[in-house]
Amino acid sequence: MNTIHNSPLTNRVKIGACEVGGNDFCLIAGPCSLESLEHFQNVAHRVKSLGAVALRGGMFKLRTSPESFQGLGKEAYSIARQVKQEVQLPFISEVTDPRHIGDMLDLVDAFQVGSRNMYNYSLLKELGSTDKPILLKRGFSALIKEWLLAADYIVKGGNDQVILCERGIRSFETATRNTFDINAVSYIKRYSSFPIVADPSHGTGDSRLVVDVALAAVAAGCDGLLIEVHPNPSQALSDGFQALDYAALEDLTTQLNLLLPVFGKRLGDR
Ligand code: PEP
Ligand code: MN
Repeated sequence: MNTIHNSPLTNRVKIGACEVGGNDFCLIAGPCSLESLEHFQNVAHRVKSLGAVALRGGMFKLRTSPESFQGLGKEAYSIARQVKQEVQLPFISEVTDPRHIGDMLDLVDAFQVGSRNMYNYSLLKELGSTDKPILLKRGFSALIKEWLLAADYIVKGGNDQVILCERGIRSFETATRNTFDINAVSYIKRYSSFPIVADPSHGTGDSRLVVDVALAAVAAGCDGLLIEVHPNPSQALSDGFQALDYAALEDLTTQLNLLLPVFGKRLGDR
């Protein structure tokens, strides 16, 4: 079947074996933060068995309050290295500071730029000189135009492996943490050459809404999903209210397997 959404101009960016922007649909899943070796091992094995093609997990967390858990920091490097090796999945993690790029280069398969750093042009320029895919989240108050220009900073630095990530924006609405901008997903597919991944975890801030909004983003044409998962969300050190437990992740993959073929896509292989 011919796909409705895939622009022939979409760049394809490889994360491991999965080609983001092609007919493979990339499910990237994992905890908001790495919490301990046992925790990350547990999540990594489960998300792999439930269809994830890449593993997410924050080591450095930019939290609104300085009192909140800030991530394990450099202590997380050895945990990530061990789990990645064991589970054999590509690993994507947020880089919050240009000084960490060197350390993280041989650890991550893709760098995530968080919403709060979309405007950090010195970070973007530095990432432009690496050869790793960059998942560039939209600033929560950024215009689509500003987001695309931020992507151009990376491309201009010599790295065209940019994947955009819609993660919700601030609006007048307070019932949900953010307002997931479904228009942005369609807009990026129609008017840009960048692949786009949807993050309904931050986009809604509510685990009960994540699957619904994920499926809506698939219908709008996204190339993949970034999903926060935790074995016991109420105990999570960050963002537990929006984390899927394993049963909910299984529900999501079941529904993805039904919906993706409608759009000529399928869950990517590892
Ligand atoms: C995250 O992915 O855990 C994160 C901090 O996301 P954002 O930058 O979109 O808030
Ligand atoms: Mn998070």
